[in-house]
Amino acid sequence: MDFKTKLLKFMYGRYGVDQLYRFLFILYFLLFFINLFIKSSIITYINIIIVIFMFYRVFSKNIYKRQLENKIYLKYKNILLKPIKKLKRNYHDRKQYVYKKCSKCKTTLRLPLPDKRGIKHVVCPECGKKITLFILRQKKIEIIRNRKEGKK
Ligand SMILES: [Zn+2]
Repeated sequence: MDFKTKLLKFMYGRYGVDQLYRFLFILYFLLFFINLFIKSSIITYINIIIVIFMFYRVFSKNIYKRQLENKIYLKYKNILLKPIKKLKRNYHDRKQYVYKKCSKCKTTLRLPLPDKRGIKHVVCPECGKKITLFILRQKKIEIIRNRKEGKK
């Protein structure tokens, strides 16, 4: 039996790599580089624990438990990344849309940017609540071709 077959046989029924593994991998290197400067023995111990945990998970035969750990990790990751995702979305759509959460039913609404700045009233399509918003941004009129400049 060659090495590859042996390895495949050894890994059979074992958990392997997942998103939590990748996160731990990055975390390990991040801490490793930070520790090059601050040289803390606590970080060294944390990193040893991380490596042991990583290998333990990869070779574990309790697939159900490892999947559960990964699920928990993904859940907290999503919670933590939510505000960043929102900021990204708002920035990306800043020229076209305004986002507003309904105070009654907590539905997020996407509203087209109005032609004029100021107070605007909208009705939530989910619960019918009247929402008042103050919009500072307005739709911009774009000049495609300036006729005056073109003329001589
Ligand atoms: Zn609503």
